[in-house]
Amino acid sequence: MKSILLFLTVLTSVCSCQSQQKELVTINGLTMGTTYSIKIVAADIALDEKKIHKDIESILTDINQSMSTYIADSELSLFNQSRITDWHVLSADLYRVIKHGNHISMISNGAFDITVSPLVNLWGFGPDPYTRDIPSDSLIESIKQHTGFEKLDFDESTQRISKSDPVVTIDLSGIAKGFAVDKIAEHLNGLGIADYLVEIGGELIGKGTNVKQQAWQIGIEQANPLERSVQRIVNLDNIAMATSGDYRNYFEKDGVRYSHTIDPVSGKPISHTLAAVTVLHSSAMHADALATAFMVSGPEKSLALANEVGVALYMLIKTDVGFEERYNDRFKPYLTN
Ligand code: ADP
Ligand code: MG
Repeated sequence: MKSILLFLTVLTSVCSCQSQQKELVTINGLTMGTTYSIKIVAADIALDEKKIHKDIESILTDINQSMSTYIADSELSLFNQSRITDWHVLSADLYRVIKHGNHISMISNGAFDITVSPLVNLWGFGPDPYTRDIPSDSLIESIKQHTGFEKLDFDESTQRISKSDPVVTIDLSGIAKGFAVDKIAEHLNGLGIADYLVEIGGELIGKGTNVKQQAWQIGIEQANPLERSVQRIVNLDNIAMATSGDYRNYFEKDGVRYSHTIDPVSGKPISHTLAAVTVLHSSAMHADALATAFMVSGPEKSLALANEVGVALYMLIKTDVGFEERYNDRFKPYLTN
């Protein structure tokens, strides 16, 4: 069975990378079950590449130790393991990400829901060991009883959260990568670095310009040898970009594709014609979570929601003959072709 491959390409990386006055520094590594890549244009200020790499590793380690559900003693795992409905004091960053996740739940009518984790696990996309068996409707229903963002309460003044149902758990996989991108960008800003591209697992932020002193450019390519292919180039002009799709993380059984994105209403992997979405916004965290929300919502609702909340949205929609692309007015200025 062929799959849709949607490649994000950093177009400017295909250069000699050594123009006369500008040099490109690239830092790569692994985090959050994926890769990261940071490109910095060395300008007037001297760059201590080793120190920046160390700083970035330390920022990512801290985020994982706080937000990962794959680390048994992370701050989030401890909250998830606790079976009490009392208030939990959280670190500032964890509180902020959970609160923002909840905000995205509210504006997306529950399409994005960080309490969906037991369902993610049930379908084999979480930290638990899994089998590729299709769960019964009654099992899905019983697990769904313990999900729902409205089961979380927030105390803003003391940065505490509580769960009204003691077995509710939180999964930040759909928002933490974006948060980490923002956090690294803030760090680079603090160092006085003006031109950089930060990418973690396909979530990006582009600031300033590349070595050619043009906006950073990202190619969105739908490469499918048997179908019509679309190639778009996006100018990442001081903005973050997040992409979600049903093409990267899924399994197939009896000819049916099961995506890692779960519809919190049905408790099942999404099934509609939306193949991929790309969202642009000043915050990578916001764009990341909304991209997942749009994947759940489907093409029509997503377009309406994107316009309502003021984000730039690009979608690839499956049709009988291939793929159709749709985007809103806010996206247009970023398209170069
Ligand atoms: P994508 O880039 O395809 O959106 P992400 O990594 O951003 O992928 O988020 C998908 C992950 O978020 C899943 O692996 C799962 O852990 C979690 N998730 C799945 N469904 C939802 C949902 N409806 N709301 C929030 N998080 C979800
Ligand atoms: Mg996401």
